Amino acid sequence: MAEQQFDPNRPVCRSGIVAKELVNGMIYIRHPRFSSRIVNRETWGFIQMCDGRDLDQLIIGVAELLGFSLTKEQLSSSIREFAENGVFIGTGERSPRSYRICNAMPLITKLSPSLKWLATRWFAILTAIAYLTCIALLVFDWTRFIEAVVSAVRQHPIQTLFLYYLTFIPIAFLHELGHASVANFYGGEVPEIVIGSSGNLAVITNMTVLKDRRAKIWYLSMGTVVDVFIWLALLVTFHYNNSYIVVVFLLPQTIYFLIYVYSIFKNSDFLKAVCAALNEPVPARPWKFIKDSWMPGSSAKSKLVWIMTVSLTVKLVITAFLIITFMFKEPMVLVLYLIYRVMVLAIGRWPSWWRRLFRTNLDLPNVDLKPGRT
Ligand SMILES: [Zn+2]
Repeated sequence: MAEQQFDPNRPVCRSGIVAKELVNGMIYIRHPRFSSRIVNRETWGFIQMCDGRDLDQLIIGVAELLGFSLTKEQLSSSIREFAENGVFIGTGERSPRSYRICNAMPLITKLSPSLKWLATRWFAILTAIAYLTCIALLVFDWTRFIEAVVSAVRQHPIQTLFLYYLTFIPIAFLHELGHASVANFYGGEVPEIVIGSSGNLAVITNMTVLKDRRAKIWYLSMGTVVDVFIWLALLVTFHYNNSYIVVVFLLPQTIYFLIYVYSIFKNSDFLKAVCAALNEPVPARPWKFIKDSWMPGSSAKSKLVWIMTVSLTVKLVITAFLIITFMFKEPMVLVLYLIYRVMVLAIGRWPSWWRRLFRTNLDLPNVDLKPGRT
C-alpha cells in the first residue's frame, strides 16, 4: 500500500493513534503501523504537534510545550528517533517490532495482589531453598538428564531443535508476567500483551512507578523467581517421568539456568539487579568495565567487579564442562545448538534484513538525542 513520503523537515504524525493516560504523566500509544509504547506527556505532545509544519515552527511549538528551546540539530535528531519508531506517515520501525494481542490489565491485576506475600524476605528465602533444591535434583539426575538429551537428539534431531525454541516461549512469557506484576503492585499499568516478530510474548509496562531500591530489586528479580519455580516443577516431573516432552521443556530451562541466568552481558536482569542492590550504575560495556576496573578495595564498585568476574568465570567453566560432556557423549547436540544460535540470530534480524532489501533508508541527520524515555 503506497503511503505519503516522509519529509524529515515536515514530519506528519500518523492519524488514528490511540492514546491513554497512565500514572506519572506517562502516555500509552498504539497504532496498527508501529509497536505500542509508553512515552512521557511531552513526547506525546510533540508527536501530535507534527502536522506537516516545518522545523522552525516546530522549534517555537516545542519551546511553548517544554519551556525550553531545542536547536535544529536536536529537533532533527528527535524526529529521526520517532521516524525510526514508525510514528510518522511514510516511516517504518527500524528495530524488530511487536504486535498487540490484548490488554494485559485483566490478567495482571489478578496476579499482582499476591505480591503482598511474594515480595517479602520470607519468600526470597523460600526461592533460595527452591533454587538449591533444583541444583541438588539436577546433580542427582545428571546422568539420566544427559542420557535423555542425547536420546532426544538422536531420535528427533530437527523436532528437538524447533521444540527447544518453542517451549521456551511460554516460560519466557511467565517470566515477563513476573516482572510486570511487580510494576503493577507498585501502581504501574501494563496496558498490553504483545507478540514480537521472533514469536516471543511480552508485556508493555509503565515502569516509572519503580522509584525506590526495594521496588527495583523486586521488579528485576521476579522474572527469575518465576523461572526458579518453573525449573523446580520441571526437574521434579523429570525425576519421575523422563518422557520426550518433559525433556524438551526441561532442556532450555536448564541451559538458561546453567549459562544465562547469571550472565553479565546484554543488560541482563541479574546485572541490573546486582547494580540496583549496590547502588551502582549498570555498566554499558560489561566486558570493558571488568577489564578496566579490576583493583582491590571494598567499595561498591569493586564488589560489582568481583561479582561480575565470578559470574563470568562460572559461566566459562560450566560452558566448557557442557561442551566436553556432549563432545564425548554425542557431538550432534553441540552441532544442533550451534544451528539453534544461528537460527535465533536470523529470527531476530530478519525484519532489518528484509527492510535493507526492500526499503530505502530514511535520509536523516545522525545525531543522538533522547527526547524522552519510551
Ligand atoms: Zn527478565
